[in-house]
Amino acid sequence: MIQSYGYAAQSPTSNLAPWAFKRRDLADNDILIDILYCGVCHSDLHSIRDDWFPGMFPMVPGHEIVGRVAKIGNSVAKFAIGDLVGVGVMVDSCLECENCKNYQEQFCATGVQTYNAKGHDGQPVYGGYADNIVVREEFVLSVSEKLAPEAVAPLLCAGITTYSPLKNWKVGKGHKLAVVGLGGLGHMAVKFGIAFGAEVTVLSTSESKREDAKLLGAHHFVVTKDEEQIEKVKSSFDFILDTVSAKHDINQYLSLLNTNGVHICVGIPLESFEVSPFSLVAGNKALAGSGAGGLAQTQEMLDYCAEHNIVSDVEVIDIKDIHHAFERMEKGDVRYRFVIDMATIKN
Ligand code: NAP
Ligand code: ZN
Repeated sequence: MIQSYGYAAQSPTSNLAPWAFKRRDLADNDILIDILYCGVCHSDLHSIRDDWFPGMFPMVPGHEIVGRVAKIGNSVAKFAIGDLVGVGVMVDSCLECENCKNYQEQFCATGVQTYNAKGHDGQPVYGGYADNIVVREEFVLSVSEKLAPEAVAPLLCAGITTYSPLKNWKVGKGHKLAVVGLGGLGHMAVKFGIAFGAEVTVLSTSESKREDAKLLGAHHFVVTKDEEQIEKVKSSFDFILDTVSAKHDINQYLSLLNTNGVHICVGIPLESFEVSPFSLVAGNKALAGSGAGGLAQTQEMLDYCAEHNIVSDVEVIDIKDIHHAFERMEKGDVRYRFVIDMATIKN
């Protein structure tokens, strides 16, 4: 077994704390990665708190991982020791079912999430708030040396989760896109929306983020609590990408869609939506969802970011400050992704 050292929650009510644990020995197609950086996704907080469903504890969260290959199994051909690599929200799947064949491994019925799950060997898997990780080679992504690795880490979840729906719905030139919530996912959605040629509006609860939105390249900024500002953007968007992590009234946002507009949910608040059928029927509107992205599209996104110099705006933190980061995240005060410097785990 391989020794690992990370931060784990021992129960849904306990804080993250240092924890030594073991990872499986390398199978022929496995890669051992020394983790350099791991992004802090709001899903990590939802998961350790059991927001969505009862989790598996102890839980080591983290699915925005960038590191270097430390060791490879006998049959690994894609990577060599020293390569800069990434791991996102999944670490295994059957690679044979319809979803896997359609490059949507994230929906494989026997897929394995990066943490809060059991691997195909029946043993729990642990995420990236740790000094290393063992991952099957197909689920390891190649990361360009051109970009700062700490700013690449969030691309592995926040990046692909926003790139994927914008690509799949072909959002681009001539479209008016609204991004709801300027956090980790939201700021990446703004960057991709701009890169794809859309006219981008940020819909935010935080007036204090107005200047940042402009710096990110957004064309417009609307504070959603301000009725007057909201009135001005009624029936105006072709697409809304909803990244909100907490309870919100989706009918209000649907009223901002133009005829045939699409509201795409990527945020996963614990509360269900109450949607009035009138909000959808009047104007042929569609309510859609999108979950992360497949392996091929994740690699495509990483390559696209390297080519276009797109990275996340990050606040690099010492892992010992993770609770403070979670507190700020709960207040919506993320600017715009916390990333753990894994070197701090050894101090
Ligand atoms: P985050 O960095 O905390 O950003 C969420 C943003 O939502 C906040 O910054 C805030 O932006 C806004 N917000 C918060 N509370 C709100 C409220 N009550 N009403 C309206 N807006 C509110 O979180 P994240 O990491 O981007 O994740 C966002 C959500 O996506 C989470 O639920 C997460 O679990 C989910 N997620 C889904 C997938 C997927 O595959 N679909 C992948 C990753 C994450 P403003 O200050 O601008 O209002
Ligand atoms: Zn995530």
